[in-house]
Amino acid sequence: MSGQQRFKTVLLFGAPGAGKGTQGKILGAIPGVLHMSSGDMFRGMDPESRLGKIFREYSTRGELVPDEVTIDLWQEHVGKLRAGGKYDPTTQLLVLDGIPRNVNQAALLDGVIDVLKVIHLAFADEKEAISRLKKRAMKENRADDAKEDVIRRRLDVYRDETRPLLDHYAKDRIADVDALGSPAQVLLEVLKVVAPLQATYFGNALA
Ligand code: ADP
Repeated sequence: MSGQQRFKTVLLFGAPGAGKGTQGKILGAIPGVLHMSSGDMFRGMDPESRLGKIFREYSTRGELVPDEVTIDLWQEHVGKLRAGGKYDPTTQLLVLDGIPRNVNQAALLDGVIDVLKVIHLAFADEKEAISRLKKRAMKENRADDAKEDVIRRRLDVYRDETRPLLDHYAKDRIADVDALGSPAQVLLEVLKVVAPLQATYFGNALA
């Protein structure tokens, strides 16, 4: 990224089922915000392509796709969005959901994204995550949500590989939000973080 500014970024962070995608979609409807979900990026691939097969292999086990593949694909995805005029880092705040997902991915992205805040959608109780994921399995037909053992594996992966990321970023960068509220209540808290950042870094770039 020589000669270029790092992308001004907010991370939506939390266990599977915490509501990252729900909040991300709403935030993405705000002018001047681009929401990017790594899960959506993977699910948008042709399932018969080489990468599509790699994704299925890992996600159906509840495992993370290998870091190099993930970061390369993400960089390519961002490049396409920029080339297609869908992402302009000079006017848009980037909201990332699902990536980076471990310390190595964060290190690989440190030169590319400037993480202004990590919004941690926090669960007091794992049982709530499991019940949300099961409901989502029925609504969205997601294979990785359907089986309890796969859900448990994803929660283990979150605890062992993803959660430690919270120590990678400075404490004052982390904003804890209670994930147990309704989507609107959670949104209220999330916006308290996002709106001032957007104003500080972009003013009203779209006016
Ligand atoms: P959830 O957060 O509910 O588990 P996602 O939609 O974010 O769901 O991700 C679904 C699957 O996609 C993950 O279980 C994993 O296999 C893969 N995946 C998504 N993001 C990443 C990432 N940053 N690194 C590696 N694998 C990922």
